[in-house]
Amino acid sequence: MVEDIVVTLELRPLGVKCNIQCQYCYQNPQRDAGNVLHLYDLEKMKATALELGGSFTLFGGEPLLLPEKDLEDIWAWGYARNGRNGIQTNGVLINDAHVQLFHRYKVHVGISVDGPGELNDARWVGTLAGTRAATAKTHAAIERLCREGIPPSLIVTLHRGNATADKLPALHDWFRYVEGLGVSSVRIHILEVENPFIRQKYALTTAENVAAFKSFLALEQELTRLDFDLFTDMRQLLRGDDHAATCVWNACDPYTTRAVQGIEGNGQRTNCGRTNKDGIDFVKADEESFERYLALYHTPQVYNGCQGCRFFLMCKGQCPGTAVAHDWRNRTEHCDVWMALYAHLEAEMVAAGETPLSLHPSRVAVEQAVLAAWTQNQYLSVAAAMEQITRGGETAVSPTTTTHGDHTDHGDSYHRDVHGDHLDHAHPYRTA
Ligand code: SF4
Ligand code: SF4
Repeated sequence: MVEDIVVTLELRPLGVKCNIQCQYCYQNPQRDAGNVLHLYDLEKMKATALELGGSFTLFGGEPLLLPEKDLEDIWAWGYARNGRNGIQTNGVLINDAHVQLFHRYKVHVGISVDGPGELNDARWVGTLAGTRAATAKTHAAIERLCREGIPPSLIVTLHRGNATADKLPALHDWFRYVEGLGVSSVRIHILEVENPFIRQKYALTTAENVAAFKSFLALEQELTRLDFDLFTDMRQLLRGDDHAATCVWNACDPYTTRAVQGIEGNGQRTNCGRTNKDGIDFVKADEESFERYLALYHTPQVYNGCQGCRFFLMCKGQCPGTAVAHDWRNRTEHCDVWMALYAHLEAEMVAAGETPLSLHPSRVAVEQAVLAAWTQNQYLSVAAAMEQITRGGETAVSPTTTTHGDHTDHGDSYHRDVHGDHLDHAHPYRTA
């Protein structure tokens, strides 16, 4: 069975051009290589968007560097066709005119920010005073959008500046605060490390990352409206429900990046920038393939594969942009973090009387069905594989329903990039 794939278009009129200089930005290799496009042609971009179909979101770099007349042009066009729009921004430049455009053209705003005050210092603007002033503007924009009834979703990257043990209490307080404002969706990223300097200065250790995530799991119990969609994803994946999972869990081919259909300023189609390790924005390959995932399944973990991992159906080696040694053939360098978190959530489910797919007797049969599809260059979701096996008369696979009948609480988590209509405005691994 080949499944229909609904994609999200990312329009990047200014490429990676940005108004600030986040020190850890995964797009820096492209800037360092001088691959920054300065010209754009909205008509060419629209033509490519029409060809691909579907709604789009504006990305950068920083897309609010676009003149307001061009923002209005592209959003009016998008609204007329799709009834909605999106943007992912660092929020620093948001002004009155932008807010009017957000209202008028139904623009959902995703803001990339790492917390208040000093917690956001890695999003550097040249001087400490300038950085703090820019952070204050971002926070004022979040407050304003919430006041105006269009709360943004947030993307927060964890690093030594905001998620070490001494910083976590302030980050928690801020999550409580933004929930009070009306923010309901926060996506948390582990820092994607591009060079040894960034690793030394900003990267958390595995233990620190795990401790931070576990602290957010505890905080989640207290929050009533704010959703850390990462945990929603991971729980659903353990239940074998991947229909709404974000791209990082879905066997992303680095040469086609199914979840990200980029359109550059000259109308050219490109991939997710997370895989541009050499600073080159390669054009998109014609056909998706799954070599990385077939290789990871069969490669021993000692050689940076995933062989024998009971969480493979959930994790699949994770995002190729985070692969060990910047080589997409390897599994993610954050394997230890994800394994610890999956084990933690798995134990919670077992304690609640559920049998996660990771412990289900049919797990290997489901793996084989998914692998068989990959060898044909076809994407088969885990949910569809489970259905196939059940229909085929093999062991019934129902890891979600051992005692709890209905766990389909996935309706409102974000970036339904592969199969849904949600968060066409915010690529989950984008840091604007
Ligand atoms: S963030 Fe990673 S998994 Fe998602 S589209 Fe980009 S490269 Fe693929
Ligand atoms: S947890 Fe590690 S070994 Fe398991 S699938 Fe993910 S990256 Fe591979």
